[in-house]
Amino acid sequence: MKTLKIAIQKSGRLNEKSVELLKNCGLNFENYKSSLISPVSNFPLEILFLRDDDIPEYVQDGIADLGIVGENVIQETEVEVAYLQKLGFGKCSLKIAITNNSDIEDIKQLEGRSIATTYPVILDKFLKDNSISADIRTISGSVEISPGLGLSDAICDLVSTGGTLKSNGLKPFADVMSSEAVLIGRKGSENELLIQELIQRVQSVLRAKETKYVVLNINRDNLDKVLDLLPGVKSPTVVPLAEANWVAVHTVIPERDFWERITGLKQAGAQGIVVMPIEKIIL
Ligand code: ATP
Ligand code: MG
Repeated sequence: MKTLKIAIQKSGRLNEKSVELLKNCGLNFENYKSSLISPVSNFPLEILFLRDDDIPEYVQDGIADLGIVGENVIQETEVEVAYLQKLGFGKCSLKIAITNNSDIEDIKQLEGRSIATTYPVILDKFLKDNSISADIRTISGSVEISPGLGLSDAICDLVSTGGTLKSNGLKPFADVMSSEAVLIGRKGSENELLIQELIQRVQSVLRAKETKYVVLNINRDNLDKVLDLLPGVKSPTVVPLAEANWVAVHTVIPERDFWERITGLKQAGAQGIVVMPIEKIIL
């Protein structure tokens, strides 16, 4: 049988979450820090550990069948790959930032200015789309110190919390793109059976992450109130308790509005609310 290869970042911001995702998909492998390749013992798959910059090209050229990489890197390398699944981690934005005391107030004022970045391709496209002609200074790292050194008027860099910008006397000014980690494959490969199987495993892990399993006790008189608060769930499981007129409700609720729902459920008379993580949801 064919063995697939998936390329993930060897070390850096996406490594840990990529390894965790693959392990949650039930794949057994050693997370060798020293080697480039690690076989999976219970699936026809090998894991390649690479610099993230190389991953899109490896996938495009068929050296790896799949890859996990930030959308920003894919756009910057201008490769042709299929986006198979957004993964919900590694979220960040590529932003133009200026110094706190900059005289620039409007994006058009970037005209003729210099902008330091490690993302010249994406920045060039952004500037062209906005009919701005600026001097792009491509550097390989520590972009945030360049205005302070007098190397550029602005920077274009990845931001997640904004802490690095702040500590360098910079403020975000314009959004260029937002990014997160994605699972990519070769164009057309999404129909291959083994790849489909992996995509389905990934999706079942992601679905489970977005939801919690909740068990609560409620007096039957208040059951309708509780059920009204659980939209989206066709039929929660309702089990009678030993105590007369009391039932336990088992259901799944979305993580995103979790606290709001729990407060509502308590107000409706729910007691002994137990919330549990879900490992996988297979549809
Ligand atoms: P490599 O050695 O593999 O080339 P790198 O230094 O280029 O690593 P990292 O800093 O580890 O890259 O970031 C990997 C990816 O994590 C980025 O391309 C981006 O998609 C994502 N990311 C999330 N938050 C941030 C952030 N605050 N700064 C930079 N990248 C971020
Ligand atoms: Mg890199």
